[in-house]
Amino acid sequence: MVVVTDPQQSLTAAQAALAQALRCHEVSDHQAGQAAAQQALDLAQQAQAPELQAQAGAVLALHLHRNGEVEAALAQGQQALNLMPEHGDGGLRARLLSTLALSCDQLELPVDALDYALAALDCARSAGEVGPVCMAMCRVATAYVRMANPARADTFAQQALELARLHRDEEQMFRALNTLVDSKLEQGDALAQNGEQEPARQCFVQALALADEALTLGGRSGELYRANVGRINHAVVLLKLGRAEQALAGFDQALAVAQAHGFELMTSALFDMRAQALMQLNRLPEAIELMEQALTLIDVNEDPGAFEQLHEHLYEAHKLQGDLAQALLHHERLRELERQRFSQRESTHLRVLLTKAELERSRLTAERAEMEAQIQRLRAFELQVERDALAAQAHELGRHAAEDALTGLPNRRAMDLQLATLFALDEDQASAAPWSLAVLDLDYFKHINDRFGHAVGDDVLRAVGSLLSHGLRPPDVVGRMGGEEFLILLRNTPLEQALPVCERLRQLIESHDWAALAPEVGGLKLRVTASLGVCRVMPGEDMRSALERADNAMYRAKQSGRNRVVAQA
Ligand code: GH3
Ligand code: MG
Ligand code: MG
Repeated sequence: MVVVTDPQQSLTAAQAALAQALRCHEVSDHQAGQAAAQQALDLAQQAQAPELQAQAGAVLALHLHRNGEVEAALAQGQQALNLMPEHGDGGLRARLLSTLALSCDQLELPVDALDYALAALDCARSAGEVGPVCMAMCRVATAYVRMANPARADTFAQQALELARLHRDEEQMFRALNTLVDSKLEQGDALAQNGEQEPARQCFVQALALADEALTLGGRSGELYRANVGRINHAVVLLKLGRAEQALAGFDQALAVAQAHGFELMTSALFDMRAQALMQLNRLPEAIELMEQALTLIDVNEDPGAFEQLHEHLYEAHKLQGDLAQALLHHERLRELERQRFSQRESTHLRVLLTKAELERSRLTAERAEMEAQIQRLRAFELQVERDALAAQAHELGRHAAEDALTGLPNRRAMDLQLATLFALDEDQASAAPWSLAVLDLDYFKHINDRFGHAVGDDVLRAVGSLLSHGLRPPDVVGRMGGEEFLILLRNTPLEQALPVCERLRQLIESHDWAALAPEVGGLKLRVTASLGVCRVMPGEDMRSALERADNAMYRAKQSGRNRVVAQA
């Protein structure tokens, strides 16, 4: 494993290794490809690049599978699939799913194989490439063959064949034809076992037509391996139809090619097939010798299936020959092999299941963590909203508590508070800048309400509030004490200056264009006047006593005819 500490460097190195692994896949160098993909995966993990990790894992699974490490390929592929975005690199995902389907098929997990094959088909369709779509359809068909559902198998394989024909894709045509042959042979075997000889023969006849075409396509593909597959399948169908001589010729030809080019698995399988043809021709000793030879060629761990078949066929051959002792020997060996295979299959399935459960668990854990984080974010957001709302509410409440709703001036409560504070601090007074306090009361306001209506009365109060607050300087304080009574504190204003200020306010009210506010009623125009009482605030005096003297002055203004200012020392 290469250790690169800088994440950026790891990323670049991972990308290079991945490119290398992909190139190896193209030229079928799966040993080097596996090493490169593993390196890419390690580096991507170091760089904490999940997408790259998924790609490297997927390519690693493809190589592992080709190197015969089926179970490892499945585990690796499932892990990569978990990391892969659903709609990312459609091509690679489809290829991976297709390989996973094949791995499951080989591990005798037909239901999982079907799941992966259908997912591969979905993925290939959305990627829109013909080759992967055909391949996935064939995988689906194969899964159905294994699940003994030949009708569904034929449907998918037939569709794949038509699609491949339409696009003149001979590689996929070849694949689809062989899948169909496989399906027909399975159907034929099942029928034959049921004693339905004629329908079985019809299946084999159909298979032969398909295998014929595959043989031609394989021959002209220029690829030795593919051509040999076509040859073998064709010969197998011939054997099923009882044409053992022709089948034998086909197997011989294929065997020569396989041996010449080191196709090892194919070679050992051909020994067995050739023996089958010999058995059909009643050349039993030759068949037995061939199979015995094959037994020495195959590594039982590498191809246990082939080993089993050889023992089964040897058992049959010896039985036909009447050598029951030998037949029994092979039968016992077969039983033992089967027992081993079953127990191995059980533990493989268990491991696959555990891997699957583990992956599902980590996926769920990650999903839950993400969900919890989302809930946290949402909760924090909700709290903030709630806090903002409360703050706004508090602000609003504070405003309402201090403000007179009608005029927008400070209300009685606020005035009491503000003036009490000012009087307590007594700053200006201490610096010998005297204050004056005035009370203003509108005259005959009850009449205004009675004659012009309460709403007009409200408008008048609003207008007076506005006139007062605009008619005073900033340090002065004005508020509504209730009803039609206002309070004014004139800061830094001795009484002799306060008097003309009050007089100006009185005139401001009297001369305002009140007629604009309300139409005349009974020939009478709206008129508004006010009476003001003003006094000077003594040094150290509290607010209540000053207010009382201002109030007294205001009453005297009322008594002496209203619409005037009266001062009290
Ligand atoms: P005076 O010249 O002696 O002050 O006579 P007045 O009618 O102004 O005094 P009085 O105290 O008899 O009546 C005050 C009226 O002010 C009675 C009340 O209905 C009215 N008033 C008090 N608050 C409001 C208010 O918010 N809106 C309106 N439209 N009228 C109000
Ligand atoms: Mg009053
Ligand atoms: Mg009044």
